[in-house]
Amino acid sequence: MAHPYANQRIGLATMHAKERALAPAFRRVLGAEIVVPAVDTDTLGTFSGEVPRPDALVETALLKAEMLFEAMPDLDCALASEGSYGPIDRVPLNPGGVELLAFVDRKRGIRHVEALPTHRTSWRLQRYAAGDPERLVALKAMGFPEFGVFVVCSSDMSRPIKGLETVDAVIDAMDREARRSEDGLAVLYSDMRAHRNPLRMKVLRAAGWKLARRLATLCPECQAPGWGWIDSRRGLPCEACGAPTHWIDFEIDGCTVCGHAASRPRKDGRRTASRLSCHSCRGGSVLPTYRQPRCQP
Ligand SMILES: [Zn+2]
Ligand SMILES: [Zn+2]
Repeated sequence: MAHPYANQRIGLATMHAKERALAPAFRRVLGAEIVVPAVDTDTLGTFSGEVPRPDALVETALLKAEMLFEAMPDLDCALASEGSYGPIDRVPLNPGGVELLAFVDRKRGIRHVEALPTHRTSWRLQRYAAGDPERLVALKAMGFPEFGVFVVCSSDMSRPIKGLETVDAVIDAMDREARRSEDGLAVLYSDMRAHRNPLRMKVLRAAGWKLARRLATLCPECQAPGWGWIDSRRGLPCEACGAPTHWIDFEIDGCTVCGHAASRPRKDGRRTASRLSCHSCRGGSVLPTYRQPRCQP
């Protein structure tokens, strides 16, 4: 039996050539074709050095999918991606990000969001004075020109300079912005738009394969695409006394269209948990491996 998306067109909202990362998975796994209509998704916001919250990312991705349906009323399915990169928890030495891929099938009522947290990012932000010799070192370390960069005035970050193609153009822009800045500094930071960032394209490709495989699995009850993991239940019994522990007991697969769900045993085949994880075997003592929640009523 052919998959419902075989030979179907799936719209993708992108201005940054994301179809290069996503189309192969959807073609190979589902037999579906990714089409990119001319939709100006930049009106919903662009990378500006801000780090939006994950729930805001989901909303934006779903909004992009809606814009697509307006542009192409004959489409049933749409795909949109949102990424957020920057210092995790404001720790500058540990840059990371999250890539979200949202899929909407408005005919069947399917909404699926695949989130891929990643540390594989080249995100950097640094400040330099005009003429600082470290500018060139930093630019090279950021992978320019294979990886794009933005330059902006440190005291007015509202108008970043984009589209810089050569080392000379970047250095000129940095010195110009540094001179007009109140603190005498220019900010140099990574361009995270997909088409200017090969690492981001890689993460996007991985998210695409994950989503396509998920959609390839049909619900055993209603045959809607997207059957798969929705939850884990904790409470695997202790090997010594049988009391429930915090270890995962079983996984739950589900369908978001009809609500059907089924449990699945742990992948590793374990039926009991180590006594070291058992609260009652340890006589209620607290080991660093597990702490009972204290604030329960
Ligand atoms: Zn179903
Ligand atoms: Zn026990």
